Amino acid sequence: MKKAFIFGHSIEKKADRIIADNGNLEEINVPGHYPYKEASVRRQTSPLTEEVVCLGCETCIKVYPVEALHKSVDTIETDKRKSTMCCACVKYCPANAREVKDNEVLSFAKKTK
Ligand code: SF4
Repeated sequence: MKKAFIFGHSIEKKADRIIADNGNLEEINVPGHYPYKEASVRRQTSPLTEEVVCLGCETCIKVYPVEALHKSVDTIETDKRKSTMCCACVKYCPANAREVKDNEVLSFAKKTK
């Protein structure tokens, strides 16, 4: 985290200097992966909840690192756009109610065992 702060601060100082000289911010030479590439379209998938098995304990919500899960009347719903696919909810669910049903992801997981 400290390295990121120092890096960000150095870029900020460069930007301030260029702005003070009425320069063009595109002149900043940012070290790292350059030229930057367009991000690929992220696969929107996530573990799902087996409603009849779910205990409603909300452990999955508590262990998930981002706010992608929320409790509805009947189940735990997952926002696929926010899911990081870390599968912490699968790992910590005491009822094994969270599961991945995406065949492509399952196939990849089997290959990387
Ligand atoms: S951790 Fe499992 S049992 Fe508990 S609410 Fe989440 S899906 Fe249901």
